Amino acid sequence: MHKTIIEPFRIKSVEPFRMSSEKDRLEYLKAAHYNPFLLTSDQVMIDMLTDSGTSAMSARQWAGIIVGDEAYAGSRSWTKMEKEVRDLTGFDYIIPTHQGRAAERIIYGLIGGKGKTFISNTHFDTTRANIEYSGSEAIDIPIPHATEPGWIHPFKGNMDTERLEALIVEKGAQNVGAVILTVTNNSGGGQPVSMQNAIEIRDICAKHGVLFLLDCCRIAENAYFIHHREANYANTPYRAIAQEMFSLADGAVMSAKKDALVNMGGFLALKDKALADECNNLLIITEGFTTYGGLSGRDMEAIAIGLEEVFDPDYLTYRVKSTTYLGDHLHKMGVPLMLPIGGHAVYIDAKAFYPHIPVDQYPGQALACELYTKGGVRSVEIGSVMFGKYDANHTLIPAPMELVRLAIPRRVYTSSHIDYVIETFGFLLHDREAVKGFEIVEETKFLRHFTAKFERV
Ligand SMILES: *Cc1c(COP(=O)(O)O)cnc(C)c1O
Repeated sequence: MHKTIIEPFRIKSVEPFRMSSEKDRLEYLKAAHYNPFLLTSDQVMIDMLTDSGTSAMSARQWAGIIVGDEAYAGSRSWTKMEKEVRDLTGFDYIIPTHQGRAAERIIYGLIGGKGKTFISNTHFDTTRANIEYSGSEAIDIPIPHATEPGWIHPFKGNMDTERLEALIVEKGAQNVGAVILTVTNNSGGGQPVSMQNAIEIRDICAKHGVLFLLDCCRIAENAYFIHHREANYANTPYRAIAQEMFSLADGAVMSAKKDALVNMGGFLALKDKALADECNNLLIITEGFTTYGGLSGRDMEAIAIGLEEVFDPDYLTYRVKSTTYLGDHLHKMGVPLMLPIGGHAVYIDAKAFYPHIPVDQYPGQALACELYTKGGVRSVEIGSVMFGKYDANHTLIPAPMELVRLAIPRRVYTSSHIDYVIETFGFLLHDREAVKGFEIVEETKFLRHFTAKFERV
């Protein structure tokens, strides 16, 4: 058996990036106030900022772009997307949206509101924002130890079902807006959720009459983990595993920018007609008519094709194995990581990487800046820059973890790009004692990580 993971595709169209020197990058980073979000993409060589909307489309998808039907009503491309989503999810009512958060705003705006509680393994940040904006509260109940970086569990993305039942009883079932299972658990490190966990959640929701929704952005990647890790699924095809998981829920919210392998798109899929009718009313007011939502016909065409391609066993094997490859190599070199390695990204524990940098000098920001300076690799801090708050004396209340995320765009980088990233970490390990932290010199009140300006301490 070969050990080398090869990309199961040939490259038909290329997008060159410019090679830069460390000297160039120091200048770019200074001009960007040491915030990688403020770099332009042509200053970056390997962009691991996010896996969202950064996939490379296939030749078939690009052909679909030309075929896309731009009719306002009754577009052929919508018929194709609707059929694909219906076959996959088993839900009757499919509502197209321009991206995941638009679907979230519609459904959570409708079923949320003051006095309601939403419960999730972990709410993704836009999910939480839409729920809280409606006046509801959002409670995360991952399984115990899920936030300990070194703790190994095959389904570290699972929800704590004991707490779920206790919370539903405590809040009163009629006050629970929905239970939302995020697969894979993005904010929890791209960790998978088991079918067993989803079945238990379905049973608890059914018993109490609570709506059960899937945040299914990475359900194909999740199906890969179930196939390889959960008893009795080794012979079930990936798509059938996803279908089984959908069959447990009352609906699903999807950002097609992840596992639908496109650059823009999303949908809402529901079992209940009355709820779908109300969602369609809101859709028409803010997104568009029911046969396009906020999408172009060509986008819908590409989504329909992407949702087929993502379940290809060759693709999924390459996808998860190449993420694991990066993680395993960094782990062997002694880079402290969030373990086990998830589906779409590798998370580095920056607090352990730079133990000499105090959290109020942002070790994650320091690591993201070093990675860019030494290799032209863009990553993102997920720690106290992103989630830190201040107390009344303007002292930092740090985030629970100081992580740096290397998200892997789908079908974009080859294994030599990944080897280059691994090599860059060799340089970072070599002179880590010399690296200094940062202070924030300018910031906004909300979502400061996008625009904050830094200076080296
Ligand atoms: C990306 C994402 C969303 C939001 O989708 P957008 O397309 O970015 O609006 C919601 N939930 C999860 C788990 C996501 O990863």
